[in-house]
This record gives sequence, structure tokens and C-alpha cells, in this order.
Amino acid sequence: MKILLLLAALVAGVLCERTFIGEQVLRIKARNGEQIRQLQDLQSLAHLQLDFWTEPANPEIPVDVRVPFDSLQSVKIYLESNNIDYSIMIKDLQEVIHAEKQEMEINQRKERNSGTFNYGAYHTLNNLYSAIDAIVLDYKSIVSKQQIGLSYEKRPINVLKFSTGANRPGIWIDAGIHSREWVTQATALWTAHKLASDYGKDSSITSLLNRYDVFLLVVTNPDGYVYSHSNDRMWRKTRSINSGSRCVGADPNRNWNAGFGGPGASSDPCSDSYYGPRAESEVEVKAVADFIRGHGKIKGFISIHSYSQYLLFPYGYKCTNPPHFTELNNVGKAAATALSSLYGTQYRVGTICSTIYQASGGSIDWTYDIGIKYSFAFELRDTGRYGFLLPSTQILPTAQETWLGLKKLLEHIRDNPY
Ligand SMILES: [Zn+2]
Repeated sequence: MKILLLLAALVAGVLCERTFIGEQVLRIKARNGEQIRQLQDLQSLAHLQLDFWTEPANPEIPVDVRVPFDSLQSVKIYLESNNIDYSIMIKDLQEVIHAEKQEMEINQRKERNSGTFNYGAYHTLNNLYSAIDAIVLDYKSIVSKQQIGLSYEKRPINVLKFSTGANRPGIWIDAGIHSREWVTQATALWTAHKLASDYGKDSSITSLLNRYDVFLLVVTNPDGYVYSHSNDRMWRKTRSINSGSRCVGADPNRNWNAGFGGPGASSDPCSDSYYGPRAESEVEVKAVADFIRGHGKIKGFISIHSYSQYLLFPYGYKCTNPPHFTELNNVGKAAATALSSLYGTQYRVGTICSTIYQASGGSIDWTYDIGIKYSFAFELRDTGRYGFLLPSTQILPTAQETWLGLKKLLEHIRDNPY
């Protein structure tokens, strides 16, 4: 019987959960524009099934690529024959993913036994949602939960509202629009608890919440998040069906109505940066955009991604500086300095286009263009050692340092009403 059960479990595993046996993540260092072009050529070879964790666009930024086992040899030969330097960043991806899963299971048992929630661990969607409900219950005088829509697979999209009075202007913070960026949902949840518990204790947060409402969306892409736990740890997109294609989902951060369909986004439904059939086609994007439009008084919009350690502001769809460049750059630098004061974590600050690459259809470009001057995106830890698979031991340090940066941005918004 035991053997039968084991076999059943194995078959179930084979049927749904994607494994990454023998896959590696390579860190490639292009020396010049020519080598960047060669990497772009490599990227266009669909049959290799490469997953570019960072895009080949700028010789100053290393390119991290997840390479399936079957493509490893071809890729390495290609790099070597073109004299392109690379190193192996993750030697066996499956091993790292397996260790992460085991750690989650151990933590889950501990949480069940102790009846406590561990903010320093990764959690399933259900557990995150329960933790959100617990925060609402514990701090009901200032925190409430608002469902702003349903995901494609009909999961609630729940925003936390921190409010101490009526008719206030608002500040929006979201995380997890790209589902595999697990440290972002974990950081956002910790931040929710911090915001709630610091009101009345930290004068900076108290004065902020006496003037502004804060809206915090911990899991912007719940379907993708669930799928990244159950089927494919590397899932980034939504889970919408694309008519006429076997490939699922669109990149929800290429789906906003800002330079939609332009450079740095793909028209191929099988690409991880597929922009979707039209702007706001993804219901998760539309839910947030409708909320922002409907509110009418959102003064700051901060979106949390990982990884690379950047604090970015518009534009991404074009390479011209925004009208408020100097102010955004200065406050961004102040935030990065505050962030680094805790553990020395270094961030680069700048526009999306000048710091990483041109990318169209992103959320903060859209919010900036509709008049939300303070539009920023964080790319949290790390700089690539673990990439999307950041060990859970780094969740709390990441959340704590990010809080210092975030607070600088929030204080600036508070003190500069417009
Ligand atoms: Zn992202």
C-alpha cells in the first residue's frame, strides 16, 4: 500500500509539477555592444527555451540566464566561441528549489504547532491571505480589507487600506505582480504589519497616516503566485488563456497603457514578456488601474519587484527623462541611502530606461503619465547570487532595510503635497 501511495505521489508529481533537474543559471558578462547583440541573437532562438532573468541590453549589467539541461552544451559553446565571459551562478536549480520547498514544509509544521506566523518564511497564497485577515483583525481601527476584483482564475484581489479619517489622498504600494518574485510578497506582508503596528508609536508613520490613506496590495498576481507554488517555481506571468496559442499568460507589467506594445515587450504569447492582446487585457492589471482611476487622489504609486537592487522611476517606454527628474532622482537617492544604512545593501537609482533597459507597458509609467508624480519601482535583493530564489533567511533583512527606503519616499510624499 505504501509503495502504491508513493507511486501515486510520483505520478502526480510528474504530471503537474515542473522540475528543473540539471538546469543552471549562468551569469554572462558582455564586454561591448557587439556581445550584447550576440546575446540578443541567442535570446531569439526559441528552441533553446532560455529564461533571461535579466535582459541583454547594457554591457554594464550582467545577464543572468536560466538554461535547461538540454540546451546547456549549445549555450556554453556559443558563448565560448564568441569569447563571451560567463560563470555558473546556480549549478543545479532543482537542488535549490527542492531545498526551498523542504524549508517551507518544515516552517508550516512549526507554525501549525506553535500557532504563530513566521514573517521570515515563504508562504502559500492561502497562508498569506490568512495572515492578511489576522492583521485586519488585530488592527481593525486603522486597517481594513477591500476586494478590488477577481483574478483570471477568480481569486480575490485584496487590498489593505490603512486609514484614520475620511476623504484623504492616497498612496498605493503593490508587490508580486511578477509571481516568482517571492521576496516581494513576503516583504509587503511584513510591511503591512509594520505600518499597522507603528501607527501611534513612530511619529513619522503616525503623521503620514493622519494625512494620507495607504493602500497595500500584497499579492497582485494571485493566480501566478499559486502556480509558482504548485506547478512551476519560475512562473512570472498571469494565467490567462491566449486564444490561438498553447502558451498561457501575459506579462502584467507590460500590459499597462503606457507605450503599450513598444520596445522591451514581446508580441509572442510564449514569451515571458508578452504584452497581451491589448492594454489592460489582464484582469489583475485592470482591477488596479480601475481602482487608481476611481480613487482620483492617489499621490504616490510604489511597485515592488525583485531582483537586482534598483530604485527606479519613469520612464521605461521611452528614454527621455521625466519632467520631475531632479526631484525624483534626489528623493530616490535619499531612499537608497536610508535603505543601505541598515546592512550596507547598495541600490542603483535612476530611470528604468537609463538604469536597466527600455521596457514598455509598465505600471509606474502609466501612473506617472496620468499625473501621479511619485511613481517608483523597487527591485529588491539580491544582485543575482540567488536571484528569484532568495533564501528565506534574507526575507526579514530585506523587509527591514526596504522599510527604511520606503519610509523616506512616504515622508517626502507627505511633506510635498501637490
Ligand atoms: Zn518583476
